[in-house]
Amino acid sequence: MIGSWCSGQKVRYSFINLSRKNDAGMETKIIKIDKPVNQAPALLAAGDIIRAGGLVAFPTETVYGLGANGLDAAACAAIYAAKGRPSDNPLILHVADRAMVDTIAAAVTPMAEKLLAAFCPGPITLILPKKPVVPERITGGLGTVGIRMPEDDIARALIRAAGVPIAAPSANISGRPSPTTAALVYRDMAGRIPLILDGGPCTFGVESTIVDCSGATAVILRPGAVTREMLEEVLGRVELDPALVGEGTTPRAPGMKYTHYAPKAPLTLLAGAPSMMASAFRREITKRQLLGHVVGVIVSEEVAAAIADLLPAELLAVYGRQADLPSIAAHLYEALRSFDLKPADCLLAEGTTEAGLGLAIMNRLHKASGFRTLSAKTGAFVK
Ligand code: AMP
Ligand code: MG
Repeated sequence: MIGSWCSGQKVRYSFINLSRKNDAGMETKIIKIDKPVNQAPALLAAGDIIRAGGLVAFPTETVYGLGANGLDAAACAAIYAAKGRPSDNPLILHVADRAMVDTIAAAVTPMAEKLLAAFCPGPITLILPKKPVVPERITGGLGTVGIRMPEDDIARALIRAAGVPIAAPSANISGRPSPTTAALVYRDMAGRIPLILDGGPCTFGVESTIVDCSGATAVILRPGAVTREMLEEVLGRVELDPALVGEGTTPRAPGMKYTHYAPKAPLTLLAGAPSMMASAFRREITKRQLLGHVVGVIVSEEVAAAIADLLPAELLAVYGRQADLPSIAAHLYEALRSFDLKPADCLLAEGTTEAGLGLAIMNRLHKASGFRTLSAKTGAFVK
């Protein structure tokens, strides 16, 4: 049932009463929030749910988050349960403004101060020493806490309405690609949470850049839309966690060691120059089809045009033009999830450059493929 719930000059939202329930009989509502957000009663109600220890999924500029009161260990335990998230994987705390950072960080290092000034609010998470008020349950026992100030108006309005920092991982079942629309949140969370705020598709589509600011040098633990190049302009030297570039090292962000972003069918990544991709895809698709496989592909517009005769349109997911990295990032997870309900038994994805935003895109594709990478040029395994 979709009904108009309320409308005003600045805020309009409708409310979809979907009756998918879990064993406990929980009903999941989706409330559409239009921007600019202006004291919407729905947001105040969502803030009440958070303060009372409940869960609310909400949009951010990166991906949709699954939020709970970040200072309430029991409320955060419900996040782990709803996602099936390993308990040693810490949660990021989301704040509305600079003052809220000081309520949870024991110290804001000079380098963190520079990043706050340059990129916050925005798609970046700073790792800082935590205050005792932050439960160890949410930091996986670490003495540090991940802090993010989202730019999305709905996210910040929700944090203000709740009046507490909101702990929020991505609103998907652990291991799956993160949701970039409310419909994708619903696919994983229906029956598990009471409320999803629908703010439309996310702008960036990949999770925040995580920067460890607790030591002498800034270290990128997870690449994102704030790129290494952008960080270096502000800080000078910035390191990459060695686990991001090679296997065999334990990542410093505990969550980065887990399988992630995986579609249901096994995925192979093709890496190489954009000009090599069309012929590489024709070769790899044909090879697999001759072996009896139903092949699905996640590719650029350029490659899609060159291979459209080889497979039905429903097995072809297009993520954007080759040179348009923001579009590729924004559509990547939706493209991966589009195969959830399709018959493909193997997937091929087109890689990008590793420069700029390409580092984040390739990080997600490497993880989604379990590091199964073929050279577009030779067809041989790279790793
Ligand atoms: P998610 O919110 O699920 O997209 O992932 C959050 C990521 O942040 C995971 O990879 C966590 O391991 C990482 N993270 C959160 N808090 C910390 C922390 N205090 N130190 C290092 N990594 C962290
Ligand atoms: Mg996640």
